[in-house]
Amino acid sequence: MPAEGANLQKELNPLANAERQFEDAASRLNLPAGLKEVIKKPRRATIVNLPVVMDDGSIRVFTGYRVQHSIARGPAKGGIRYHPQVTLEEVEALAAWMTWKCAVVNIPFGGGKGGIICDPEKLSKSELERLTRRYAADLSDLFGPESDVPAPDVNTNEQVMAWIVDTYSMHERRTEYAVVTGKPLEVGGSAGRREATGRGVLLCIREASAHLKLPLRGARIAVQGFGNVGSVSADLLGREGAVLVAAADVSGAVHNPNGLEVAALIRYVADHRGVKGFPGGQRLETPIVEHDCDVLIPAALENQITHENANRIKARIIAEGANGPTTPDADRILETMGVFVIPDILCNSGGVTVSYFEWVKNRMGLYWPEAEVNQRLEHTMVTAFRDVLAKSLEHRVNMRVAAFMVAIERVVKVMMLRGLYA
Ligand code: NAD
Repeated sequence: MPAEGANLQKELNPLANAERQFEDAASRLNLPAGLKEVIKKPRRATIVNLPVVMDDGSIRVFTGYRVQHSIARGPAKGGIRYHPQVTLEEVEALAAWMTWKCAVVNIPFGGGKGGIICDPEKLSKSELERLTRRYAADLSDLFGPESDVPAPDVNTNEQVMAWIVDTYSMHERRTEYAVVTGKPLEVGGSAGRREATGRGVLLCIREASAHLKLPLRGARIAVQGFGNVGSVSADLLGREGAVLVAAADVSGAVHNPNGLEVAALIRYVADHRGVKGFPGGQRLETPIVEHDCDVLIPAALENQITHENANRIKARIIAEGANGPTTPDADRILETMGVFVIPDILCNSGGVTVSYFEWVKNRMGLYWPEAEVNQRLEHTMVTAFRDVLAKSLEHRVNMRVAAFMVAIERVVKVMMLRGLYA
């Protein structure tokens, strides 16, 4: 492989990136050497091979993973991803990010993540159900409200969570809603969960714009990925007077310097399965991350901003709705350009925060109305943003390094207090 290709492949490795981000922050903290090694590695990684009877009567075996990165601050928490390219390394990286995310927003969870190598597009609903139930059954020793609490991630949804609740409950011989979050409202889900990540993105952008003295009213927004996180962020920002000038998804990209009408675009995407052809804007030919705007929200996939395109970014603020959209090499370039990056472990933590509320409500048996959920979310997010900003100003580091520093300090504090068992 040519050197440039090999370098790029290394730059796009999520586990290597998660480790670099950790090292960058950890090297600035006075951590006991041994302890640093303990929290770098996942606590436990499980591989399961799952036999499933397909609709035609044949048997297929799918490989699945569950990684618990840390349980120091509470049960492992993190989603389950169904994707043909899932790897153990990717799940390890995502599990570590969950540890830091939960610590940044100061909720009592550790970090975990799961995945199954499969293409859900090619499975029938009943095959998907049997696969999910087998995964949940095989891992039911790990899962539990006190030990490991999964949630939806790429290609898993409320229905998948309902199947896991049912499978786990059958094994336990009692209904246990708190074993997963992101459930349907009727099965112990939380009001406001669907909008929670986008609402958190809005709250972070609002705090950042106040800090940078960039008015939100009239700010030009570009959103990559017009799914749950991207569309809710755009909608809520529009209500604050910001203008959506460009939006992209897998179907294509559209722009309008005078503003795309967000509600109409959301309706159009629901009817046409993508932004492509939206009559309220023109087709965007250039990459959306390079679009002229004040705030860029990558809300699609990892590795969208790399050393190759970082110097063409025009946004003043990047609000990471997606996990891992910016590589560490790109971070360095953006920092020299003065771009204010709100890192994923802070920016998209609204989802796990409301998942925490869902878990609390399941355990209390008391369900808060949406207004109360939103109020608590705002308090949690604003506090977290201000903690990270204060760390960033104190140590003269960017927001990503500061967020990791806050998170690592919180995890280490608990580990020191608890001590190492045996
Ligand atoms: P989603 O499936 O609802 O939306 C994803 C969007 O990205 C879709 O519009 C899709 O068309 C678009 N997309 C995919 N590939 C693209 C490409 N190459 N270029 C442009 N657009 C592309 O998913 P979501 O729940 O909105 O999640 C988006 C991101 O946010 C993911 O990285 C996810 O891990 C992260 N995230 C989500 C939550 C949550 O609560 N949903 C919480 C934290 C982080």
